[in-house]
Amino acid sequence: MRQLFFIRPGVLEWRDVPEPKLEGSGDAIVRPVAAASCDLDIAIIRGEAPFLGPFPLGHDFVAEVVEIAPDVTAVQKGDIVIVAGSISCGKCGRCRRGLTGDCAAVPFLSMYGIGALGGDWGGAVSDLVRVPYANAMLVPLPSNLGLIDVTSVGDNAADAWHTVGPYLDAAPEAPILIVGGAGGGSIGLYAVAIARALGSAQVDYVDYDSKRLEVAQSLGGSPIEGWPASLGPYPITVDASADKRGLWCAIRSTEGNGVCTSTGIYYAPETPLPLQEMYMKGITFKTGRIHARSLIPKMLELVSSGSFSSAKIVSEQSDWDDAPRAFCEYTTKLLLTRS
Ligand SMILES: [Zn+2]
Ligand SMILES: [Zn+2]
Repeated sequence: MRQLFFIRPGVLEWRDVPEPKLEGSGDAIVRPVAAASCDLDIAIIRGEAPFLGPFPLGHDFVAEVVEIAPDVTAVQKGDIVIVAGSISCGKCGRCRRGLTGDCAAVPFLSMYGIGALGGDWGGAVSDLVRVPYANAMLVPLPSNLGLIDVTSVGDNAADAWHTVGPYLDAAPEAPILIVGGAGGGSIGLYAVAIARALGSAQVDYVDYDSKRLEVAQSLGGSPIEGWPASLGPYPITVDASADKRGLWCAIRSTEGNGVCTSTGIYYAPETPLPLQEMYMKGITFKTGRIHARSLIPKMLELVSSGSFSSAKIVSEQSDWDDAPRAFCEYTTKLLLTRS
């Protein structure tokens, strides 16, 4: 079968590899029908993230179930499903607490599409993918939802939800500051769209990229260009920049006893924080990989309500066959679909 490989920065190619087989009684084999770029992918492709090829790329996808093992009851052959990007069993203590990105049944960091660091699970841009723990990993896609709105709910969109959703549940109209820009920059834009959908009265969006600022405005955000030292203050802030200037802008714009969530990956071994100011103001700072599987239902609820759409965030759409070129050229969010 054909599988998309990241070879080295700027070079992706199709490779012929053996088809995956059912290995356990809870496995499924799925055929991806749509795949989206993750903000991390662009950093890998540009050589800005420390991932060495070759390895199969991609972990945001929607697929058709083509084969199931005897213990799989949650989905049937022919179902269209969202596949969580990280591998999770659904039964261990961590999974039951919603920490599905840190499942105790598999090695640390197990996920599709990031090479040796994530394990040998393959990548999303493949003819077939093996899904372990299919009862937990696969979420049937409601038939009325479009691929453009759901292909990233198993990763980037869920990541954005967790930066604003829990706090807007408690204070629905609270103003928010989002600093975007990391990788493709989609997470910050998702956060704008989700915050507006959940009721935030004011969503200010900081970025250095004029196109993303325009998209943020079209999603109901108020664009602010550049890297201000601080703004606001705001009770809820988001750093989706992966840039120290953006990180400091978000933290210093957080009001006393507010919450700042950072989704960016800082690859340097040390990144300074304004801890004295954070201490004085009593700021809660959160960072970490997303536990996306547990948040997929929240995102599907939002898409189903009609208040959220990814259509303006998807910057490029391409046919499946064109994946090697399309992944090297996309800007914010690429959607690949099989014709
Ligand atoms: Zn990702
Ligand atoms: Zn688990």
